[in-house]
Amino acid sequence: MLIANGTVIDTDPEPRVMIGTDVLVEDGTIAAVGRGLDAGDAEILDATGRIVLPGFVDTHRHVWQGVLRSVAADATLGDYLDLVLGRLTPVFRAEDVYAANLWGALEALDSGITTLCDWSHIQLTPAHTDAALDALRESGIRAVFAYAHPGPGDDSRREDEVRRIASPGPSGLVTPALAAWGPVYGSVEAAEADWRLARELGLRISLHATGTGAVERLHRHGLLGPDVMFVHGNGFTDEAMRLVADSGGTASVAPAVESQMGHGRPETGRFRAFGITTGLGVDTVTDTPGDMFALMRAAFAAERAGGGSLTAAEVLRMATAEGAAALGMDDLVGSLRPGGQADIVMLRAGDLGLAPVHDPIGAVVTAAGPANVDTVLVAGRVVKREGRLVGVDTRGALDLVSRSAERIAGAAGLPAPVAG
Ligand SMILES: [Zn+2]
Repeated sequence: MLIANGTVIDTDPEPRVMIGTDVLVEDGTIAAVGRGLDAGDAEILDATGRIVLPGFVDTHRHVWQGVLRSVAADATLGDYLDLVLGRLTPVFRAEDVYAANLWGALEALDSGITTLCDWSHIQLTPAHTDAALDALRESGIRAVFAYAHPGPGDDSRREDEVRRIASPGPSGLVTPALAAWGPVYGSVEAAEADWRLARELGLRISLHATGTGAVERLHRHGLLGPDVMFVHGNGFTDEAMRLVADSGGTASVAPAVESQMGHGRPETGRFRAFGITTGLGVDTVTDTPGDMFALMRAAFAAERAGGGSLTAAEVLRMATAEGAAALGMDDLVGSLRPGGQADIVMLRAGDLGLAPVHDPIGAVVTAAGPANVDTVLVAGRVVKREGRLVGVDTRGALDLVSRSAERIAGAAGLPAPVAG
């Protein structure tokens, strides 16, 4: 397939714009980027009037909360934990997880997120796990499925389930990983056992951590490393930042959630100043939007409000190539480098709100939105064309998630959703 004559933005090694440029896709991978490429009898995808860029990489998202959109708009982190983990989680059945994960993944794809890390702490039973995985596979998105034990307590650990999801290893578009409760929510002993297990199985680890002490504790127990991604990091000391940097660990900032729920100022600038590879994450749609455009703007605004000097190009890199690197996937996705996977997004540059495009990188970061996403490819397969998802039953997915939303709200004593 030849994506022809687009305004192409590559993100590696630094974001740059190429006008009137083609992208040649062969067997699901990017074969070449250049002007006037000879494509033989390849299918032509006309990108005239389109901004063409790598698919976005969401480094941290609880996809199962796709059914809980805006249930807690005013929540602080404490409120969120009480409501979502305390009251809502226990009422989820496996079929609710399927409906929610499918809806959440489709929403991400529709908005141009082609890779996400699903930090999935809804593993109440093995059937819940299978439901989450089935939905991710069905959606057509590229996913890291990060399994969290059913709870943070030592006796909630399910090593057998971690082994099950890790075998037979990466298959298709889904890669297994460990979503660790870590020493913030659980015990250091459980963390040690988790790290040992993940490293035995070759799984990357990600954990929520804020404030002081978590990184230092992991360091004292020899648990830091390049396979560990820290989510949030608000309030990390300089010493913690240095320890993460020295270990090769990475970071995922959720700028919208952190600003709104009161985690503290997003640490985007500090992570990057310490040389830590940093991606962006939606985290949850219970109180923030689920698309990368909103995240880019939240990161950009929060950093500069605090006096930081983040640029639009740096924000776009975090949303793509750097996010991929934070997940250890930069050899596969996040850029248009030949040999990488053809995960590509095309935006309609002539849309209201986006035209005129003086500066394509600036326009993507400051002006574009999900409504401008015309075409999305994952591994060379077109999953969205002319503004509509293809090959999936979105109407059926809506019916499923609507039924689940109503039942979950009822079971948890919340008002029923009014529409959808
Ligand atoms: Zn989270």
